[in-house]
Amino acid sequence: MPSRNQRPRFIDPFQPAHIRRLVKDFGSPLLIVDCERVRVQYKKLRKALPGVDLHYALKPMPHPAVVTTILGEGGFLDLATTGEVHLVQRLGADPKRCIHTHPIKRDQDIRNAVNFGVRTFVADNPDEVRKFARYTDNTELLLRVSFRSPGAVCDLSRKFGCDPEDLLSLARLAAEIGVEVRGLSYHVGSQAGDSAKHVEALNACVKLMATARREKLGAFDTLDIGGGFPIDYAQPVTDIIRFCEPIREALGKLPKRVRVIAEPGRFIVGPSTIGVASVMGRAKREGHWWYYLDDGLYGSYSGQLYDHARYPVEPLRDSSERLPSVLAGPTCDSIDVIAENLMLPELKAGDLIVGRAMGAYTWASASEFNFFPKATVVAVNTKPGDEGSVTPL
Ligand SMILES: *Cc1c(COP(=O)(O)O)cnc(C)c1O
Repeated sequence: MPSRNQRPRFIDPFQPAHIRRLVKDFGSPLLIVDCERVRVQYKKLRKALPGVDLHYALKPMPHPAVVTTILGEGGFLDLATTGEVHLVQRLGADPKRCIHTHPIKRDQDIRNAVNFGVRTFVADNPDEVRKFARYTDNTELLLRVSFRSPGAVCDLSRKFGCDPEDLLSLARLAAEIGVEVRGLSYHVGSQAGDSAKHVEALNACVKLMATARREKLGAFDTLDIGGGFPIDYAQPVTDIIRFCEPIREALGKLPKRVRVIAEPGRFIVGPSTIGVASVMGRAKREGHWWYYLDDGLYGSYSGQLYDHARYPVEPLRDSSERLPSVLAGPTCDSIDVIAENLMLPELKAGDLIVGRAMGAYTWASASEFNFFPKATVVAVNTKPGDEGSVTPL
């Protein structure tokens, strides 16, 4: 982990002494969310995308402390479900700072969000646009356009989004019904290697918005460039300032009246969290040590399956002598193996294993298979100026 500019009033919860203390206080397995690192990530992306309003997508880590931290920085939120609406409502979020971006919703989902006060929704097909006929007074739409992205680790444009060729007829339908269209959105997929697809989608959307305005199909003054901004896992990625350079250049050509927003999830929360698991037991099998942890693929490491992520893992104990080892999860399923062929010092029951970059799509998709409880989430440095405040969920 590169050292960050930690202000002295914060503790660095990723330091071994703090990790040990937090495990002592809150047990294992643990996910330690450092809200100061959330702030650092938020500010980095603000710098990489100046003038772009960042709506934190709750999906990768729907934790109250992260939501509160983003709001404390003056940020915005991206909601997709009634559960997320209720969470931010409970936290006292201003609905004007929230958008609802699930392209497919039940009427009840729309109503729950509208009752909270959310105004901006996403639709990508005629049936969905028609659902807003009864909410024309208090809603407006972003139409989601699909740009396939086979290069991204998770291609989100296969499941959602309308073909660019169908966009204008969808906008005409909205105009006929009297639903206000504010603009377009897209999501090029998560953890993309470079921003070429972003720029392609952006330029295509700008053209479509100009045509739609000429046809007087709506305001078309908002462009939502989605999420997908990549972070370092076991493999490092392009630095975010460089990654966004072509996007900044493309945004620079936009007319001033267009408001640009983004929906980052992973980038904000991924690097801000470490996972801590304990060795429950060990066995030597075919000459190699197998260590069985209290967290695994059915728990916080679920992202290794669903999200195709590889978290850098290392033991807290160090030693110069290292042996080829296997880290396995606690369940009785044979698929539940975190990593093989790792060079590790010899570990004992109770030793701690730390996984890095475990904020996004980890706890959110964990299960309690075999009745192994999900990791406890502990948020640290929750309030700027509040020394090492700790809030367990
Ligand atoms: C998942 C999702 C995001 C967040 O994507 P990241 O790759 O985590 O940045 C943003 N918007 C929508 C609509 C999503 O489904």
